[in-house]
Amino acid sequence: MAKVKRSYTQTPMREQEAAVRCHNFDEVAFGYNMEEGQLEASRCLQCKNAPCIENCPVMIDIPGFIKAIEDGDMPKAHEVLSKYTNLPAICGRVCPQEKQCEMVCRLGRSKKFEPVAIGKLERLVADWALEQPIEYKEVTGNKGRVAVIGSGPSGLTTAGDLAKLGYEVIIYEALHAPGGVLTYGIPEFRLPKRIVNKEIERIVAQGVTIETNVVIGKTITMEEIMEEFDACYLSVGAGAPNFMGIPGTSLNGVYSSSEYLTRINLMHGYEFPKYDTPVQRSKNVVVIGGGNVAMDAARSAKRLGADNVSVIYRRSLEELPARIEEYHHSVEEGIEYHWLTNPIEYISDDKGTLTAVKCVKMELGEPDESGRRRPVVIPDSEFIIEADTAIEAIGQGANKVLLDTFPELGTNKWGYVEADPETAATTIPGVFAGGDIVTGAATVILAMGAGKIAAREIDQYIQKVRQEMPV
Ligand code: FAD
Ligand code: SF4
Repeated sequence: MAKVKRSYTQTPMREQEAAVRCHNFDEVAFGYNMEEGQLEASRCLQCKNAPCIENCPVMIDIPGFIKAIEDGDMPKAHEVLSKYTNLPAICGRVCPQEKQCEMVCRLGRSKKFEPVAIGKLERLVADWALEQPIEYKEVTGNKGRVAVIGSGPSGLTTAGDLAKLGYEVIIYEALHAPGGVLTYGIPEFRLPKRIVNKEIERIVAQGVTIETNVVIGKTITMEEIMEEFDACYLSVGAGAPNFMGIPGTSLNGVYSSSEYLTRINLMHGYEFPKYDTPVQRSKNVVVIGGGNVAMDAARSAKRLGADNVSVIYRRSLEELPARIEEYHHSVEEGIEYHWLTNPIEYISDDKGTLTAVKCVKMELGEPDESGRRRPVVIPDSEFIIEADTAIEAIGQGANKVLLDTFPELGTNKWGYVEADPETAATTIPGVFAGGDIVTGAATVILAMGAGKIAAREIDQYIQKVRQEMPV
């Protein structure tokens, strides 16, 4: 048999030139075509006991769908993927594969080779599937009724899985559009909203109902939910912004990343005045933080026309929590970095408008409880960065609207819902929870993983309760 010669490197994905893309909100990466996909798929070793599956939070049969791509059998590839995920086009774009399946890929472990581009192949299959006709299903609801609170990736996953099992599922969403962070947080150039909407449409086609503009805890109480439904899943996310609380936080020009990105994404601020919501057009923008949210805010500011955009991060590149791909893209687009730097004050003119950020230099000391070296201030190291806009992207906390009206529910010291990671069960029977509202701000795939566990457990819970009911 002829020996297959595998390319050492991944098949590259075509993308917009940096000089062009930093002036528009169109998607950066174009995706593989079939030929590129088959070439990449042919690099997979089809391992037995594939480690990539073990390291995928929803245990996708990765070699299975890759083999189908290699064979040119896209319906089969999609059938394999759909067993494990309701949101493959989203995961293929935003999952941190380099820290999960691709990190342990046997091909990549052989030093000479890069791992198989699993995420890019997932995207190829998912995008193909989104172009196929939708099959609408009717759900009788005979098995039971479930309320899902919050329409982010966790809630969508639970709803999709339960609908497939024959449950009547209603998702209640506080905002006017479903999708959670996928819709209001992650920008168009990384995750186009038409893709999010198409994947949601396919979940709705399974028989799921989504009611937007309904704030559970206000529009409908939790008591009403528990009375009307056999069980409910809380997936309200962690979208409440944290602030550093340094002097000048209330100045004009200082934003939380949540507000800045919501204006741009959910409210289409980048298309003002076609849409109603304006967003500040800035000259000098400073973004504080080092995660995906900071990258998204910085790259959005650049696209809105800012002359200078810099990211201030109190540790170094080595500790940067953002996806490395996003960091590289940001550098190509002209974003600058102030490493080992922390802001200590916002400075204004006499009208209360931001003009500069006062910062200090940091050095890394002993490791803290997270295992990362703790940043320590270098004395007398203050300096000024000119800025008319500062965006704090230093993390988010639990969404409180529902929790404040439902004090019976157990929460932990950080204000997140107490739920068993193995069963998603909370302290109240019939109430399950998962995603960011349990773990704190995490990732799409972890939120989806929790959603899958919840669907399985809700099914078991409802069937057990029904069996125990007197006839
Ligand atoms: P969410 O997506 O937060 O959804 C919760 C939903 O519940 C929201 O729609 C909210 O409006 C709704 N809700 C809240 N309260 C109520 C109520 N009382 N009644 C009704 N509805 C309610 N992860 C990655 O894996 N890769 C990335 O590249 C990435 N980039 C990110 C970029 C940004 C800007 C942000 C903010 C996050 C990013 N993440 C990324 C993290 C990821 O998006 C989240 O971990 C994930 O969305 C959490 O899903 P969830 O379903 O738990 O909650
Ligand atoms: Fe293919 Fe890598 Fe998974 Fe092996 S570990 S099956 S090479 S993707």
